[in-house]
Amino acid sequence: MSIAERIESIRKELNESVTLVAVSKTKPVEAILDAYAAGQLEFGENKVQELVGKYELLPKDIHWHLIGHLQSNKVKYIAPFVHLIHSVDSLKLLSEINKQALKCNRVIDCLLQFHVASEETKFGLNETEATELLNSEEYKSMKNIRIVGIMGMASFTDHLDLIHKEFQSLKSTFEVLKTSHFHEDDFFKEISMGMSGDYSIAVSEGSTMIRVGSTIFGSR
Ligand SMILES: *Cc1c(COP(=O)(O)O)cnc(C)c1O
Repeated sequence: MSIAERIESIRKELNESVTLVAVSKTKPVEAILDAYAAGQLEFGENKVQELVGKYELLPKDIHWHLIGHLQSNKVKYIAPFVHLIHSVDSLKLLSEINKQALKCNRVIDCLLQFHVASEETKFGLNETEATELLNSEEYKSMKNIRIVGIMGMASFTDHLDLIHKEFQSLKSTFEVLKTSHFHEDDFFKEISMGMSGDYSIAVSEGSTMIRVGSTIFGSR
């Protein structure tokens, strides 16, 4: 199957309300252009340098998503153009995004990343930490960022029950925060969960945004 056919076949499985982010990390611009020609406009990258390089080479109506861990000192490189940052896991990072967004006269949309997987290595907040962040005066004073939802990754496992449980936990966190801090904010609506191996489960558990790489572009 071509890249265009793979995108088409994933789209057919999705309700229109679910956004497909094509994860193009490590893949050449030619592959991205194939996807773009098929109407794909949302692309995700996990490294700042690679994201900036591709942004410069590719059509400017592409929406670029930063999905990987982001260091504060690199925010400035993506602040002028990034569409959505999925991986906000600290007040310090959010504060730097706010600062750089102000310099660019933009409001940058962000997701809070949560840790639900059993693996130690995955980044992310827990509910208590997120609540602290959202209750802080520093957060409340930020005018150039907007938190539009949450993101998370399930464990890399064959245990489907566990994957279901982890996605349910993310959905529940979303509902808790919606009620506690974003009750009146229609923009707080995204749950970014699901990758090549588990996006069907994620969608069944309420994902609004899936991040799919290898199923579209082939293995890395
Ligand atoms: C690489 C990556 C993906 C896509 O992974 P695939 O298994 O290739 O679909 C999704 N989310 C994040 C955060 C990633 O780093």
